Amino acid sequence: MDGLVRATLLVRRIARAGFGIALTCGLATYVVLGGATAPLGPVPAIAAVLWGLLLTKRLRSKLRLTGDAPFLLDFELGALLAVGLDAALLRFDGTLSGRFSPATYVLVALVASFGRPLPGLAVVAWVVGLDAVIRYKTLGEPSLESLATQAGFACAFALLNLVLLRAEVARIRLTARSRVEEELKRLRDDARSYRLLGAGESRTEKEDAEERLARSSVEEIHQSVHYALELLRRCLDLHTAVLLWRTDSGTHLRISELSTASDDIHDAPFSIGDGVLAAVLAKKEAVLLENLRPSYKIPYYASACPVRALAAIPVIDDGIVRGVLALDRVDNRPFSPHEHELAAQAARYCLRAIQNERVFVQLERAKVEQGKLYRAAQALGAALSEKDVVEAGVRAAREIASFDLAAVTIWDETTKMHEVCAAKSENREIEDLVGQRFKHNTGLVSMVVTNRFPLPYKGEFDAAHQTVLTKRLPWPNIPSLLVLPLLHHGRPLGTLILGAKRRQAFGDTVRPTLEVLASHLAVSLSNARMVHKLETMATTDGMTGLFNKRAMLEQASAKVAAAHRFGRKLSVLVTDIDFFKKVNDTYGHDVGDVVIKGLGEILKRVKRTTDVVARFGGEEFVVLCEQTDEAGAQLLGERIREELSKTVFQSPNGPLKVTCSVGIATFPEAGGTWDELFKAADEALYVSKRGGRDRVSIWQPPSSARAKAG
Ligand code: GH3
Ligand code: MG
Ligand code: MG
Repeated sequence: MDGLVRATLLVRRIARAGFGIALTCGLATYVVLGGATAPLGPVPAIAAVLWGLLLTKRLRSKLRLTGDAPFLLDFELGALLAVGLDAALLRFDGTLSGRFSPATYVLVALVASFGRPLPGLAVVAWVVGLDAVIRYKTLGEPSLESLATQAGFACAFALLNLVLLRAEVARIRLTARSRVEEELKRLRDDARSYRLLGAGESRTEKEDAEERLARSSVEEIHQSVHYALELLRRCLDLHTAVLLWRTDSGTHLRISELSTASDDIHDAPFSIGDGVLAAVLAKKEAVLLENLRPSYKIPYYASACPVRALAAIPVIDDGIVRGVLALDRVDNRPFSPHEHELAAQAARYCLRAIQNERVFVQLERAKVEQGKLYRAAQALGAALSEKDVVEAGVRAAREIASFDLAAVTIWDETTKMHEVCAAKSENREIEDLVGQRFKHNTGLVSMVVTNRFPLPYKGEFDAAHQTVLTKRLPWPNIPSLLVLPLLHHGRPLGTLILGAKRRQAFGDTVRPTLEVLASHLAVSLSNARMVHKLETMATTDGMTGLFNKRAMLEQASAKVAAAHRFGRKLSVLVTDIDFFKKVNDTYGHDVGDVVIKGLGEILKRVKRTTDVVARFGGEEFVVLCEQTDEAGAQLLGERIREELSKTVFQSPNGPLKVTCSVGIATFPEAGGTWDELFKAADEALYVSKRGGRDRVSIWQPPSSARAKAG
């Protein structure tokens, strides 16, 4: 049942989709069979009505669509029009080569311009095909020549129209885009001349956000200023009230905002050396003129001077003339002191509007920067290891400025050496520098550490004349570079180096924030070092650099558990220097210490990487060897013993030699827990001592020991 319903629906869908094309084909066949030349009667009338109905329906569908029409709709429309046109030509001319035959080309051109290329081509093929069939079948004039001419013309028209139309559309789009870009550039220039935006081009996402902020501020300024000018013009009966503002370069003045009754305004920027405005800028004083003649040149009017009186008031900001407020009127009525005062107030108002917006932008910017620094401080605070701190610092720097490479160097005050501890770049250009050490020199990193000040000046890098790390370690030749000192309580810990492939990447807008970030980074780096130092102190024996008892005990239980789980052997060696009290008594404690350190060095040398060595106290050491049976442990014990007995220690009272005794216990024979194992090894050591010292003993079960003794 379900299948039947689905089949019925499918048939209905096909019938609905194919109905139009079937009717078009039917009408075309009717025309081919002579329907268009047959005497008028009910059948041709019905055909004409059907054609008209279908065409109307399809046209309505096409007009209702907002996007591109489907292929079938475009094709049906074109094909229907072609059938109608051919029928009309046959009815009125009796041939397809008559007076009205060029109408075919009009049709083809029309289809090519409104449809997409594919249905357009299909319609052209349909037109040519229908034409050929009518000529051959209906008119009986199978002349290849006229058919080819017709087809050639139809195709040429379609192609020409298609190309021209698309080219025109592309041209219009391009013009529109460049107009939008021009407008954006104008807004950006405005923002710069009001000092809302820093110099340089805006390219990054961060700068885009800043540009949006500046743009809305520019709009605010324009609205406030426009309102003031409009009010002034109406109150003082002016022809024009205009605020002229200096361009970013300062060499030109341009209309910032105006209210005028004139339609003759010259909108382009004009040089600040032009006419009356030059006098205002030079003297920093208002200029009031009357009795002006049409020949007088006022730069913001395109042609003859339409006014008789003019007041030009300087707009002064920070002691610099930033712009000019110009007021003029057609009547030759001089500006009264009262009017002059009003204009001066308006100039101050315009300036304040700009200053307010500047403060607002700065506040907004500060808020954004503070947010970034807050997030950076949180990320840095959470990082405990030096590596994590560096990574968090570089990540935070990326929020503040966009850069292509970043590196961190660490400064060692005692050895006067720098070391690159992190380096990251997109194309792995500087990764090899990690771990490289270099002496203090005259390179930028060394200078930054010495002077505690970011370099290079303005963040511009010149590889030909500047060295970043040292001459031996080349730095990629990129135009932007910033080396920031990592200062903690005024002490340099190292540097943060940022590099960018675009120019002016580290301008005044980002440098102060990066400097604050660098000091956060320095504090976190110092904390991470402290944590590391504490960790080391808690687990290491200060004299030998080996593990201390606590660290050994922590590892021991884990190793015993692993030996249990995997059914492996585990040996414990305990060493103790023989007659060590005598060494201390004869040569002094200092020499005793040298001997303890010497044994520590021997143990470090002979141990395998998987062995754990710890100083357990005094002149007693413990070695824990995984996957080692008695025989293996004995070999190691003998090596330790031999190495120590061969070693000659120097003392003020002459050279001395010492020996040591070793006790060994192996899991699982000697014990199932750490305590049992250690106790067994200690017993074995006691056996060595009792047996005459300078020897290695393996723990024996009490029965065999008793048997031996017996
Ligand atoms: P034995 O052969 O039986 O081991 O005799 P011994 O004299 O070596 O005796 P024991 O191992 O008990 O002596 C340990 C001595 O090591 C006691 C102490 O004076 C000395 N000692 C402990 N710690 C240190 C240290 O850090 N430095 C120095 N110089 N001596 C230490
Ligand atoms: Mg001892
Ligand atoms: Mg001893």
